[in-house]
Amino acid sequence: MAESAKFTVQEKMQRDASSKLDTIIVGAGLGGLGAAISILLAGHDVTVLEAASNIGEVGAGIQVLPNAARVLFSWGLKDKLEKFATKPQKCNFIGWKGNHLSEMDYHGYAAAAGGYPFWDFHRANLHKCLLDRAIELGAKLVTKAKVETYTVSPDGSSTTVFLADGRSMTTDLLIGADGINSKLREEFLGKSDPPELTGDLAYRLLLNTSEMLKDPELRPFVENPQVNYWVGPDKHAVNYVLKGGELFNMVLLVPDDIPLEAGNLLEGNIDEMRAHFDGWDPRIAKMLELSDSVLKWRLCIRPGLEPTWSHPSGSFTMLGDAVHATLPYLASGAGMALEDGGVLGLCLARLTDKSPASKQKALEVYEACRRERTENVVKRGTYNQWIYHLADGPEQEDRDEKFRQFGEKDEQ
Ligand code: FAD
Repeated sequence: MAESAKFTVQEKMQRDASSKLDTIIVGAGLGGLGAAISILLAGHDVTVLEAASNIGEVGAGIQVLPNAARVLFSWGLKDKLEKFATKPQKCNFIGWKGNHLSEMDYHGYAAAAGGYPFWDFHRANLHKCLLDRAIELGAKLVTKAKVETYTVSPDGSSTTVFLADGRSMTTDLLIGADGINSKLREEFLGKSDPPELTGDLAYRLLLNTSEMLKDPELRPFVENPQVNYWVGPDKHAVNYVLKGGELFNMVLLVPDDIPLEAGNLLEGNIDEMRAHFDGWDPRIAKMLELSDSVLKWRLCIRPGLEPTWSHPSGSFTMLGDAVHATLPYLASGAGMALEDGGVLGLCLARLTDKSPASKQKALEVYEACRRERTENVVKRGTYNQWIYHLADGPEQEDRDEKFRQFGEKDEQ
């Protein structure tokens, strides 16, 4: 059987006006675009409103795990994405002084996960593939469209969004995919609701691999695509190659020292960044020598939203970081946003009319499918913060032993 025959690609459903929803998604991030594809495949109309004037993603890498790859395959993106993907062979866990702790065979796991791969992307490539697919399926995209608030009609059948520039638009279903600082979430709750601080920040850098290839100690990191985690007191570092070895993505996770009034994203200081890893595996210092600028992101989370993500009328819901932003210590925030979009589309695929009762039911099922899983991912991300950042001592020795046992089990 040909490999592609194993995977199911969703066909676009045909609908008449009696059951075709007009939907608006706020936010053209990975979550919003994924939802657009999935809802279009369910036969509904989609308009995406994006505050930015240019649609895009930050210049950094992203790991896509098999669960998220499965969703992307179902949207018909396998072949397009494969052109941009790097497939890491394995994941290495390394102690902060450079001692190898264990490894996980990604190819073996992918095979066990039904053949859905572990993929690493430059975010811009993943984002562009989603954008192109959404447009191909009929998404209408409006940039410079910053949403300020919304109201639900008295009979609950529709929602009207109001934009910062004075425009307004009415829709059968409004979906907030506007990220961790979601304005729609605040409007839904009727109060200011900042995300929670985690005590960590991330330095994100992209290195050109040409210099790394000249150094015998760094060359293997480029030539053998792998994901590497160094774990140590209060910090960890993650890296992997992108674009078939052209770029090297590094993320350094360290204690948050950004003053609260400075915002969540700023230009980092290279010397300060390097100083965090003084005394660590000398290969990290060598990698950091190759960078000349870096961005610094405060890491926040949203552990969930009680009691519901959706308006009782069935004409508003949310997805992605707006409802369950997680620490990136499980590489799963975008994966969860993509899964949300996939499930929401499948729930809306079953609509046979546009009544509030039918929409309510669809949103109820959507949330019931997504809530526990996403809350667990947020909890697990926070747990990994503790595990990865243990100070040297008995707990760290116990962790390292468990890592080793895990690696040995993986080899069997
Ligand atoms: P966003 O990407 O934030 O998109 C929100 C969009 O809404 C933006 O385009 C924004 O401009 C727009 N918007 C905001 N407000 C408005 C408004 N009022 N009106 C209109 N538009 C608006 N996840 C993984 O799966 N794998 C990884 O390897 C990974 N690594 C990560 C590493 C780091 C350092 C970090 C910080 C995160 C990482 N994540 C990873 C998490 C992932 O990036 C996020 O979970 C994901 O991008 C969230 O997507 P989203 O669409 O929900 O939100």
